[in-house]
Amino acid sequence: MRKKIVAGNWKMNNNKGETAELIQALKPLSFSPDIRVMIAPAFTHLAQAEKLTQGGRLEVLAQNMNASDSGAFTGEISAGMLYSIGINKVILGHSERRAYYNETDSSLKKKVETALTHNMEVVFCFGEELEDRKAGNYFEVIQTQLETALFDLTPSEWSKIILAYEPVWAIGTGETASPQQAQEMHAFIRGLIALKYDQVLADDVCILYGGSVKPANASAIFSMRDVDGGLIGGAALKAEDFMAIIQSV
Ligand code: PEP
Repeated sequence: MRKKIVAGNWKMNNNKGETAELIQALKPLSFSPDIRVMIAPAFTHLAQAEKLTQGGRLEVLAQNMNASDSGAFTGEISAGMLYSIGINKVILGHSERRAYYNETDSSLKKKVETALTHNMEVVFCFGEELEDRKAGNYFEVIQTQLETALFDLTPSEWSKIILAYEPVWAIGTGETASPQQAQEMHAFIRGLIALKYDQVLADDVCILYGGSVKPANASAIFSMRDVDGGLIGGAALKAEDFMAIIQSV
């Protein structure tokens, strides 16, 4: 049975002290065993975050990693490096990585494979652009993204995959997909997985929604049948807001 997940993507925010402060503020929060809560601080603070969260239920994930295991890739971080400091989860394919660092579904397929080789859990982000939404071809776009990046995985590899549907037009814009729009897409995604694999596997995959989730709209979105929680950007940087969102799941 799939769990609910609320994951905070801190992006390139918070210095070392601010990272520690935010973690300390979140630590006392208690939440049901059916819920997982994750935070993704910057690379430089992952080791600290890992130490500060030890023994608690906050899970730490990286925001990215390289597809290769080692080599001449200046400025990059490998899965093995993350694993060596106790980080066994990573966000891949965030729309900002796609937009600013030319990540594509084909290059992400390789990253996903590398992450799985290292036994890491992957929060895989994907979503359509505003033009796709306006043109009405958003279902096709999502289908292509999933088929290219993930549909060569074996059924057992899917136990390490968490999906995050993030319509690009809703990220950091204040625009949110309506609960009905989110549900419609999440049901479509689950249906695609059921067709490619089977219904049991599809029912086990956790599909998060991301895009301007705030305390005010979280419960309406999370109440949708196929929405299993959220990937949160801006609102994850304020302990109070992030905790309110966790309480809404
Ligand atoms: C994100 O960056 O994944 C995101 C969902 O951001 P925000 O919540 O700020 O829209």
